[in-house]
Amino acid sequence: MPELVTHAFSVYFIGMHPSVKRVRWLFYFGVLLPDVISRPIYILWPRWFGYTVAMHTPIFMLIVCLLLAEFFASPLKIKARWALLAGCGFHFLLDLFQKHIGAGYFWLFPFSWRSFEIGLFWPEATLPLVPIWLLLMVAFEGIWLLRRRKSQVIPGIG
Ligand SMILES: [Zn+2]
Repeated sequence: MPELVTHAFSVYFIGMHPSVKRVRWLFYFGVLLPDVISRPIYILWPRWFGYTVAMHTPIFMLIVCLLLAEFFASPLKIKARWALLAGCGFHFLLDLFQKHIGAGYFWLFPFSWRSFEIGLFWPEATLPLVPIWLLLMVAFEGIWLLRRRKSQVIPGIG
């Protein structure tokens, strides 16, 4: 698990695309969701590790995303569903590139206990980059806000 900031930054520019803009924050939430759901339980109750392993799987997150999307009104429900699912998909894609000392993530749970990963970096390898990711996201949000304000100024008045 790269930490949450790296997960957020990995999809930050995808969230800026006009087709995603309306559900942008749901998309970002979906990117964080697998770790937001499983990590606190593991930290608070380490003996429940087996359950949190099962929670950090595509099938579990598919169910969670479909349930969460049901809380949205009909016109937004389908977009919410896809934003959450796409976010989770990108989360797992980044996790796939990690390496672990022991078994990695069980992508096909509960159908298989086989674990596989590409193994390009250790989970903590992204930690030194967190300030850079944060700075870039804050800078781009600032630029985006300034551009939006400029476009809203009516000529001759502001
Ligand atoms: Zn993860």
